[in-house]
Amino acid sequence: METKQCTSCNTVLSATTEHFSKQKLGKYGLNSKCKPCLIDKRKEYSARPGVRAKLNSHQAKYRSNNPKKARESSKRSYDKNKDKYNAYSRDKRANDHEYRDRCIAWDKKYSDDGKRLKSNKTEEQWSRTLELSRKNNSKLEYKARNSAYSAKYRLDNRDWFLSYERNRRESLTDGYLAHVISQSTKHSDSCSISFNEVTPELIIIKRKQLKLHRDVKNYKQA
Ligand SMILES: [Zn+2]
Repeated sequence: METKQCTSCNTVLSATTEHFSKQKLGKYGLNSKCKPCLIDKRKEYSARPGVRAKLNSHQAKYRSNNPKKARESSKRSYDKNKDKYNAYSRDKRANDHEYRDRCIAWDKKYSDDGKRLKSNKTEEQWSRTLELSRKNNSKLEYKARNSAYSAKYRLDNRDWFLSYERNRRESLTDGYLAHVISQSTKHSDSCSISFNEVTPELIIIKRKQLKLHRDVKNYKQA
């Protein structure tokens, strides 16, 4: 069997699509880097400042120009990582009120359009569902049940959550920064702020502050 050496990690692997992605002009029609290295390179690239935003807007444009392809690709990706997606969404739904309201609104929208007839609820029934869900969530017993539920999912998908959180921390995502701000002000009476009250301006300031802190730390360690 033909072999091929990855130009990045120098590992010699069999020259098959199991280890290398396809690339027409490459040797044996394969990429010069092995799959794990290629994934690392892509992650490194998209973590560069400004690149994430550019990729997102590029992707949004492509998706709006090719709705059918975009839907198919989303479906493929969902089918492949169903468990992860569901665990992530469940966790977020239990902890992030804004996200939960968005989900409910989304379900409602698609049932209205008739595209995705999930429920026959009327407008009035929907607003009752929303209200009830808010009310229930403020009850201690429901809160306890929700957090037990999400703790179990965290445990069952531990590695995935750890890498998800590491990534949030490293790339200082808006959600991570809002979390840090609300947590750090939690015990102050005069200036506490909840997750949903954190403004984009505060997020920008916190990001600069943490970056500065990290830069100084790196400088001192170097
Ligand atoms: Zn490699």
